[in-house]
Amino acid sequence: MSEIIMTNPATGEKLGVKKCWTRKQILDAYKKAREKAESFKNTTIEQRIEEVRKIKRYIVENMEEIAEKISKDLGKIKSEALLMEIFPVLDCISYYEKNAKKILKDKKVRNPISLIGKKSYVFYEPLGVILVIAPWNYPFNLSFIPIISAIIAGNVVIYKPSELATYTGMLIEEILEKSGFEKGVVTVVYGRGREIGDALIEGKPDKIFLTGSTTTGRIIMEKAAKYLIPVELELGGKDPMIVFEDVDLERATNAAVWGSLLNSGQACVAIERIYVQENVYDDFVKLVVEKVKKLRQGWNGDYDIGSMTSPNQIKIVEDHIKDAVKKGAKILVGGKRKGKSMFFPPTVLVNVNHKMKIMKEETFGPVICIMKFKDEKEAVKLANDTIYGLNASVWSDDIDRAVRIARQIKCGGVAINNALTASANFALPFGGTKQSGMGRYHGPYGLYAFSNIKAVMIEKGKKETEINWYPFGKEKYERFLTTFKSLFSEKTVDKIKGLPAMIKLMRNK
Ligand code: NAD
Repeated sequence: MSEIIMTNPATGEKLGVKKCWTRKQILDAYKKAREKAESFKNTTIEQRIEEVRKIKRYIVENMEEIAEKISKDLGKIKSEALLMEIFPVLDCISYYEKNAKKILKDKKVRNPISLIGKKSYVFYEPLGVILVIAPWNYPFNLSFIPIISAIIAGNVVIYKPSELATYTGMLIEEILEKSGFEKGVVTVVYGRGREIGDALIEGKPDKIFLTGSTTTGRIIMEKAAKYLIPVELELGGKDPMIVFEDVDLERATNAAVWGSLLNSGQACVAIERIYVQENVYDDFVKLVVEKVKKLRQGWNGDYDIGSMTSPNQIKIVEDHIKDAVKKGAKILVGGKRKGKSMFFPPTVLVNVNHKMKIMKEETFGPVICIMKFKDEKEAVKLANDTIYGLNASVWSDDIDRAVRIARQIKCGGVAINNALTASANFALPFGGTKQSGMGRYHGPYGLYAFSNIKAVMIEKGKKETEINWYPFGKEKYERFLTTFKSLFSEKTVDKIKGLPAMIKLMRNK
């Protein structure tokens, strides 16, 4: 049986060994999950919220220990663990505590005149068993939020953590157990995606929620197509930051540095491309370089940036930098790591262009790439010149202009005069366009993503027959014709003309 060795990427310390699940174990887990789904779907929203609240209480009480474990697993500094992993999970639970009941309440929908006497509703029902597949970059946040959303909507979950964040997967399992959360609602399945992926899909979940790379998204969608399993894909990005000449350069460069380097650049919504209007380009670059040089990199101490997590990702970062330099890019800071260290130094590159991988493919590392633009038209063209469409930011003192640009960028979210904030408000939708994925979650969208949105029409059923039932015949055809013409005509005279036919139809004549 294959196993996963867990290590702290920052120190190399071995954290433990976890056995990977077999195909049989996975299919058995689905069987149990299906049984559990049958009872769990009948719980009330209040009961589900009460369950999820146990997780919140536990996290609040054990926050430091949890931050430490996440930090160990991934080499990220503890502030990052608090800010981007723990806080969003607590925020998500608080949001649903306040809003889930209203979001999932049956909704009455207005009837058109043609359906007089009937009542229309939307019911939000659980889908059943949800497969949540999570990545390694924010494994606590990006596992717990879809898991919690699925549970609040009344589903049970099969959860597969990334093999590179197995320790965090175990932490989540521990939190579920120790918080007293209802057993059997979430099953944590361990293993490497490429080894156990087929069995996970063979279990025929009612929906697959993947956060991961575009490559994996494509594979999973293809495999899910065999059983027509719906998929939600939260995939890669190449987010642009567009900076106009009228901005406060201090603020914009502070944002550029943080927004590009947070979590060592391993964030799907990190800034990966910066376009600066030509008049302020030199000053912008100078300030970015000064600020990057002041950053402190290390782990478990007074630092700003931790290590990277995945050895493969470092190789991609190095490959992108090498390709860029070969094609004329200039490194102003960083650019090379010491030996095989997992600490990749924050790097600033200029003279970059769209022939380079670093401006086209997802780099997912602590690299800042800055390029000039002339005017609005060029800025939009550059921002949209990508296969991705996750997030973006636009910087200008002229809010009308910034909004105009925001509307033209093909992506799932835009922050104006800030970095990443479109994903900071949990009530806003989150998701991508183009090859950044499909579907939306967070806020109400997160519960609808895991619901069967059912249309229901109710009537007393006292009438013997209906207008649209048999018999038809020539006379009825003429009445339909006159009625529909009059219903949808824009001329009052036609509307009046059709009234007698309509009345006869309504009387079922
Ligand atoms: P990845 O695609 O390598 O892995 C993601 C998950 O998919 C892991 O759990 C992995 O084991 C699993 N997996 C891989 N192959 C599989 C298969 N054939 N069948 C089933 N499961 C399989 O991604 P990663 O390296 O863990 O994460 C980084 C990527 O995720 C980046 O591209 C990043 O942009 C993206 N990401 C997107 C978002 C978002 O919300 N859009 C958020 C974070 C990360």
